Amino acid sequence: MSQTAFAPEVFTWPSDEPRLIGARCPQCSAVVFPLQTSCPRCGTVGMERHLLPRRGTLWTWTTQEFLPKEPYASGETIETFKPYGVGLVQLGDEVRVEGRLTESDPAKLAFDMAVELVIVPFRIDEDGTEVVTYAFAPVIAGGD
Ligand SMILES: [Zn+2]
Repeated sequence: MSQTAFAPEVFTWPSDEPRLIGARCPQCSAVVFPLQTSCPRCGTVGMERHLLPRRGTLWTWTTQEFLPKEPYASGETIETFKPYGVGLVQLGDEVRVEGRLTESDPAKLAFDMAVELVIVPFRIDEDGTEVVTYAFAPVIAGGD
C-alpha cells in the first residue's frame, strides 16, 4: 500500500525515528511548532528549521468523544467514529505540542507520563493511499 503524510513539513517521514518539524528563533531561541517564518516572542523574521525531541511528557489531555467538524477529513462518519485522546505534550524544555494520543482511555493516562512520537494511519483515500499523521504513544518501560 502506498502511504502519504497528512501534511508536508509537519514531521520527518518516512523515518524509523520520526521527529516533529518546528522552528527556532536565531535571536531569542524561542521554539515553535509548527514551523513558522517569524518569531512569536521577538518578531524576528527568519526562523530556523528545528527538529523537536521525539520524547516528552504528558502535560494535560482530554478525549475527543464526538466527530470533529470539517476539515477534520478522517473519512469517518458519526457511525464509524472512535473516540481518541488529545494531549498537550511537553517536549524536552523546548515547546508544548498538541497531538492525538494513541491511548483514549483516561484511566490509562497520567500527568507527566512519558510519551513518544509515532506515526499512525489517519484515513484511506479513494485511490487506496494510506494517509498517516502523528500521535503520541505512552512509552512502555522496557523489561517489566
Ligand atoms: Zn525570537
